[in-house]
Parts: sequence; structure tokens; C-alpha cells
Amino acid sequence: MTEVTRRPLAEEVGFEPTVPGDTAVFETARFGRSRTPPSRSLQRSFPATFVAAPWCFGKFVDVDDTANDELFMRAALDIAIVAAGHDDVPVGCVLVENDVVIGVGENRRELDQDPTAHAELVALRDAAFSRPSWRMDEVTAFVTLEPCVMCAGALLNARVRRVVIGALDEKAGAVGSRYNVLSDPRLLHEASLTYGVLAEESAALLRAFFLERRPD
Ligand code: ZN
Repeated sequence: MTEVTRRPLAEEVGFEPTVPGDTAVFETARFGRSRTPPSRSLQRSFPATFVAAPWCFGKFVDVDDTANDELFMRAALDIAIVAAGHDDVPVGCVLVENDVVIGVGENRRELDQDPTAHAELVALRDAAFSRPSWRMDEVTAFVTLEPCVMCAGALLNARVRRVVIGALDEKAGAVGSRYNVLSDPRLLHEASLTYGVLAEESAALLRAFFLERRPD
């Protein structure tokens, strides 16, 4: 097992919560004695080595069994690699409902020159295209990188039941790192959250992508 210790980067760069005082007290009560939300205060651990999972489209797996999280996250990583193939930052998203993949998306911002073409939004649109309802309250989203404010907002508006996250985005993450868009009782909906699934692979993919483009 590899222990992953999270560094309080937000504090290092002088990030201050901007919520009003009374709300901060409420959130403190919610998250315990620390103002640090659980996603930032918990140590995550995951296996150091993995057996390659088969591509999971059409295969029966129980999405509520968290042992299968790696299976779907590996599919999301495969899609993230597609993004790198068209020179987009490699982030992938897979949406699963009743054990079936209903939507996939890779980051296409550069390819489409569309500021909203993040992996999560591409996947949500992909799923919505073939669904009778916008409501996705039985859907689990697997995302290789912690969603930004826009994507967390979209997942919120889709009423996605659960979000499984690979690597954290301490600069722009809105599901624990910078904001808690999916666990804020002031908003319409809260999702069940799982962190650190194939986080090492996801971060390694991002590092390799940026290293290749910025060798210095
Ligand atoms: Zn996003």
C-alpha cells in the first residue's frame, strides 16, 4: 500500500475561505473541529500496483461495490489518453447507471476551442443525448481529476448521485480542494464522494503530458 499524504497547498498560497462567519461556523460543525473539509484532512491510501482491468462497456459489474471503482476509473483514464492524443490536458470522465456506461467524455477544450468542453460536460452531454430525462440521480461519475467549479456545478445540476475522483486539483478543484460544491448544504444537492481512485496513474498521466510540452 502507498500512503498518500496531502499537503495543505491552499494554506501555503494564502487561500482564505470567503464564506461569511456564520456559514463558516456551520461548516465547521459539519466537518468537525477543523475547518478543513474531510477530503483535505483524510489520508488516502490505495494499492501501489494494479491488474489491468478490461474495458468495461457492456460488462455487468455492480457500481455500488467500490471494488469496481478502479474498473470504471481505468476506463476514464483510457478516455483521458484520448484527450492527450488531440493535445488536450488528459482528463477523462465516465458516467455509469445501473452498471452500464451511459456517457463518456474527454477534455476537448483545445480541439473544439470551447471553454466548456471539459471531460465532465462532454460526458454529461453524451449521456443526455440518449436519455429521456436530464435527471441523473442514479448515476455515478468517474473523473480522473477533481472537477472544477463549472463541472462540479454541472454534476450538481444533473443531480449525480455519486462522484468518484482520481487525482486532486489543489489549484482549481471544487470538490474538496478549493470549494465544496458537491457537499454544500446551501446548494440543491449533495453527492456521495470517493477520492483517490487510481490517483497516482491520473497524476502521472498529467505530469507526463505537461513534461512533454514543457521540457524545461
Ligand atoms: Zn471542469
